[in-house]
Amino acid sequence: MKLPLDRYDRLPEALAGIAPRDIRAVFPNPSLVFIEGEETQPLFVSTLLHGNELTSFSVLQHLERTCRGARPPRSLIVFVGNVGAAAAGVRHLDDTPDFNRIWADGHSPWHDMAQDVMDEARRAGLFASIDIHNNTGDNPLYGCVNALRPADLQLAAMFAPVGVYYLNPPTTQSIAFSRICPAITVECGKTGSAEGNAAAIRLVEEAMRLKAFASAPPPPGTLDVYQTVGRVLIPEDVSFGFGEPDAQLTLRQDLEALNFRPMAAGESWAETQLSGMPLRVVDEHGHDLTGDFFRRDGRALRLVQQVVPSMITRDRQVIRQDCLGYLMRPI
Ligand SMILES: [Zn+2]
Repeated sequence: MKLPLDRYDRLPEALAGIAPRDIRAVFPNPSLVFIEGEETQPLFVSTLLHGNELTSFSVLQHLERTCRGARPPRSLIVFVGNVGAAAAGVRHLDDTPDFNRIWADGHSPWHDMAQDVMDEARRAGLFASIDIHNNTGDNPLYGCVNALRPADLQLAAMFAPVGVYYLNPPTTQSIAFSRICPAITVECGKTGSAEGNAAAIRLVEEAMRLKAFASAPPPPGTLDVYQTVGRVLIPEDVSFGFGEPDAQLTLRQDLEALNFRPMAAGESWAETQLSGMPLRVVDEHGHDLTGDFFRRDGRALRLVQQVVPSMITRDRQVIRQDCLGYLMRPI
């Protein structure tokens, strides 16, 4: 089976008046849009890999408005990803893979489609790639890079003063694209955030106007880069709550507010009525690191060392399906 990948030479004007859920009226299938600009080396803009993260939809509408009848300062290749999930208002449909996990080794119609997109991108000789996302917890705006090169770091600093470096999972769009050009994933806060939408639009505009990347990394003080050292999981059989004292694991109520703020050794994350350690920390290979990060102190679960939490969410479904959040260290 081959999935359709439609091609366009401009963003359809009908984008202007629609809601994200009606996207299939404009793009019935995943699509590549080639827009010619003044500088010919294209900027790749990746949108709607996750169907319920709508900052990228605002960027699509913005680009349609500004490119209508006017050449952008730089050519663009816009990828419109999981339109089926966007129509349903979900991250991905149950019977299709996560569109941000299909960009490396795998054999499925979706992997083949991602490969076709990669082939087009490679042929075009990209200037840079920007993949636009939102997250579920309370986080500041931040950019993710997969290479600590000056150009990638410059893109991150253009978006926000906080950056994350990761190499896992290896199947994301920005990891694949970082092999052919400077590439960044931008996390634009919660979906619908006006600040996130404005920042994503500003970044795309600036990247289009940028003539060349600097050869030196961003000056000290303009970008703090963190590396993920562990994922925090709550075992399936443990009931939990934020502040609710009758749960087996009572996480502190303000945990989500601590995203990207350093927490010192000894600070408490939770209290528990259970014996043992009802939290787990694993590294990118699934190895257990719990004892390196948490210890029991009576009923309290305290940090063993200083860490910077990120992507902590209170969304129960995300916690159960993915994780509570991540632990990071500054690079
Ligand atoms: Zn996403």
